[in-house]
Amino acid sequence: MLTLTGFGYDVHAFAAGDHVTLAGIKIPHDKGIRAHSDGDVILHALCDALFGVMGHGDIGQHFPPSDPQWKGTSSDHFVRFALERLEKRKGRLLHADISLVAEAPRIGPYRAQMIANLAGLLGLNQARIGLKATTSESMGFTGRKEGLAAAVTVTVTLPEQE
Ligand code: MG
Repeated sequence: MLTLTGFGYDVHAFAAGDHVTLAGIKIPHDKGIRAHSDGDVILHALCDALFGVMGHGDIGQHFPPSDPQWKGTSSDHFVRFALERLEKRKGRLLHADISLVAEAPRIGPYRAQMIANLAGLLGLNQARIGLKATTSESMGFTGRKEGLAAAVTVTVTLPEQE
Protein backbone atom coordinates (compact mmCIF):
# COMPACT_ATOMS: atom_id res chain seq x y z
CA MET A 1 0.00 0.00 0.00
CA LEU A 2 1.06 3.54 -0.71
CA THR A 3 0.06 6.40 1.57
CA LEU A 4 -0.64 9.49 -0.53
CA THR A 5 -1.87 13.05 0.02
CA GLY A 6 -4.43 14.94 -2.07
CA PHE A 7 -5.08 18.68 -2.05
CA GLY A 8 -8.18 20.65 -3.04
CA TYR A 9 -9.12 24.33 -3.01
CA ASP A 10 -12.43 26.06 -3.69
CA VAL A 11 -13.88 29.56 -3.60
CA HIS A 12 -17.43 30.87 -3.82
CA ALA A 13 -18.75 34.41 -3.86
CA PHE A 14 -21.45 35.62 -1.51
CA ALA A 15 -24.83 36.62 -2.93
CA ALA A 16 -28.18 37.61 -1.51
CA GLY A 17 -29.47 35.00 0.91
CA ASP A 18 -29.80 34.00 4.53
CA HIS A 19 -27.46 31.03 4.97
CA VAL A 20 -24.34 29.32 3.72
CA THR A 21 -23.81 25.56 3.55
CA LEU A 22 -20.48 24.39 4.93
CA ALA A 23 -19.51 20.74 5.39
CA GLY A 24 -23.16 19.94 4.67
CA ILE A 25 -24.48 22.10 7.52
CA LYS A 26 -26.71 25.13 6.89
CA ILE A 27 -25.28 28.07 8.80
CA PRO A 28 -27.42 31.22 9.15
CA HIS A 29 -25.72 34.27 7.62
CA ASP A 30 -26.72 37.67 6.28
CA LYS A 31 -25.66 36.50 2.79
CA GLY A 32 -25.99 33.36 0.70
CA ILE A 33 -23.64 31.73 -1.79
CA ARG A 34 -23.54 32.34 -5.54
CA ALA A 35 -23.26 28.83 -6.96
CA HIS A 36 -24.87 26.32 -9.25
CA SER A 37 -24.99 23.62 -6.56
CA ASP A 38 -25.35 24.42 -2.85
CA GLY A 39 -21.90 26.10 -3.08
CA ASP A 40 -20.36 24.17 -0.20
CA VAL A 41 -16.68 25.21 -0.50
CA ILE A 42 -15.55 22.63 2.06
CA LEU A 43 -17.17 19.68 0.29
CA HIS A 44 -16.03 20.95 -3.12
CA ALA A 45 -12.42 21.29 -1.95
CA LEU A 46 -12.70 17.85 -0.35
CA CYS A 47 -13.85 16.37 -3.68
CA ASP A 48 -10.92 17.95 -5.49
CA ALA A 49 -8.52 16.56 -2.87
CA LEU A 50 -9.97 13.07 -3.47
CA PHE A 51 -9.93 13.45 -7.26
CA GLY A 52 -6.40 14.85 -7.01
CA VAL A 53 -4.94 11.94 -5.08
CA MET A 54 -6.43 9.51 -7.61
CA GLY A 55 -5.39 11.55 -10.66
CA HIS A 56 -9.05 11.79 -11.64
CA GLY A 57 -9.24 15.41 -12.75
CA ASP A 58 -11.38 17.88 -10.84
CA ILE A 59 -14.96 18.41 -9.72
CA GLY A 60 -15.75 20.69 -12.69
CA GLN A 61 -14.88 17.88 -15.09
CA HIS A 62 -17.20 15.38 -13.41
CA PHE A 63 -19.98 17.85 -12.58
CA PRO A 64 -19.80 20.76 -15.06
CA PRO A 65 -21.50 23.92 -13.70
CA SER A 66 -22.98 24.35 -17.21
CA ASP A 67 -24.95 21.10 -16.79
CA PRO A 68 -28.46 21.95 -15.50
CA GLN A 69 -28.83 18.56 -13.77
CA TRP A 70 -26.47 19.69 -10.95
CA LYS A 71 -28.45 22.86 -10.20
CA GLY A 72 -29.08 23.09 -6.47
CA THR A 73 -27.46 19.70 -5.90
CA SER A 74 -26.46 18.91 -2.34
CA SER A 75 -22.68 18.61 -2.46
CA ASP A 76 -22.58 15.39 -0.45
CA HIS A 77 -23.61 13.76 -3.75
CA PHE A 78 -20.28 14.89 -5.27
CA VAL A 79 -18.33 13.58 -2.27
CA ARG A 80 -20.05 10.19 -2.43
CA PHE A 81 -19.16 9.96 -6.13
CA ALA A 82 -15.48 10.65 -5.34
CA LEU A 83 -15.50 8.11 -2.48
CA GLU A 84 -17.02 5.46 -4.77
CA ARG A 85 -14.17 6.02 -7.19
CA LEU A 86 -11.67 5.65 -4.35
CA GLU A 87 -13.34 2.41 -3.30
CA LYS A 88 -13.17 1.10 -6.89
CA ARG A 89 -9.44 1.79 -6.82
CA LYS A 90 -9.23 -0.18 -3.53
CA GLY A 91 -8.21 2.99 -1.77
CA ARG A 92 -9.07 3.99 1.77
CA LEU A 93 -9.44 7.48 3.22
CA LEU A 94 -7.47 7.88 6.46
CA HIS A 95 -7.73 11.54 7.28
CA ALA A 96 -9.02 14.91 6.09
CA ASP A 97 -7.68 18.28 7.15
CA ILE A 98 -9.74 21.38 6.32
CA SER A 99 -9.07 25.10 6.52
CA LEU A 100 -11.88 27.57 5.90
CA VAL A 101 -11.00 31.19 5.10
CA ALA A 102 -13.81 33.63 5.90
CA GLU A 103 -14.35 36.79 7.95
CA ALA A 104 -17.90 35.55 8.56
CA PRO A 105 -19.84 33.51 9.42
CA ARG A 106 -17.95 32.21 12.42
CA ILE A 107 -18.20 28.43 12.48
CA GLY A 108 -17.40 27.90 16.18
CA PRO A 109 -21.00 27.17 17.23
CA TYR A 110 -21.39 24.71 14.30
CA ARG A 111 -18.00 23.01 14.42
CA ALA A 112 -19.16 19.88 16.31
CA GLN A 113 -22.12 19.44 13.94
CA MET A 114 -19.88 19.91 10.89
CA ILE A 115 -17.33 17.36 12.12
CA ALA A 116 -20.06 14.84 12.97
CA ASN A 117 -21.56 15.25 9.50
CA LEU A 118 -18.16 14.89 7.81
CA ALA A 119 -17.37 11.79 9.88
CA GLY A 120 -20.62 10.17 8.74
CA LEU A 121 -20.17 11.15 5.12
CA LEU A 122 -16.52 10.08 4.95
CA GLY A 123 -16.74 7.01 7.19
CA LEU A 124 -14.00 8.45 9.39
CA ASN A 125 -13.53 8.63 13.13
CA GLN A 126 -14.05 12.26 14.22
CA ALA A 127 -10.46 12.27 15.50
CA ARG A 128 -9.30 11.87 11.87
CA ILE A 129 -10.92 15.12 10.76
CA GLY A 130 -9.24 18.49 11.19
CA LEU A 131 -11.47 21.55 10.83
CA LYS A 132 -9.95 24.98 11.22
CA ALA A 133 -11.09 28.46 10.32
CA THR A 134 -9.16 31.65 9.84
CA THR A 135 -9.87 35.16 8.64
CA SER A 136 -7.78 37.08 6.08
CA GLU A 137 -7.18 39.97 8.49
CA SER A 138 -9.54 42.13 6.37
CA MET A 139 -7.34 41.73 3.25
CA GLY A 140 -8.32 40.40 -0.20
CA PHE A 141 -11.70 39.08 -1.35
CA THR A 142 -12.31 37.07 1.80
CA GLY A 143 -11.22 40.00 3.93
CA ARG A 144 -13.67 42.30 2.10
CA LYS A 145 -16.40 39.72 2.81
CA GLU A 146 -16.98 39.11 -0.91
CA GLY A 147 -16.78 35.36 -0.54
CA LEU A 148 -15.16 32.47 1.22
CA ALA A 149 -12.55 29.83 0.46
CA ALA A 150 -11.57 26.38 1.68
CA ALA A 151 -8.42 24.30 1.35
CA VAL A 152 -8.46 20.58 2.13
CA THR A 153 -5.88 17.83 2.24
CA VAL A 154 -6.75 14.15 2.42
CA THR A 155 -4.51 11.21 3.26
CA VAL A 156 -5.39 7.93 1.59
CA THR A 157 -3.92 4.50 1.04
CA LEU A 158 -3.91 3.09 -2.49
CA PRO A 159 -2.50 -0.21 -3.79
CA GLU A 160 1.07 0.06 -5.05
CA GLN A 161 0.20 -1.90 -8.21
CA GLU A 162 -2.87 -0.68 -10.11
MG1 MG B 1 -17.24 25.08 -5.86
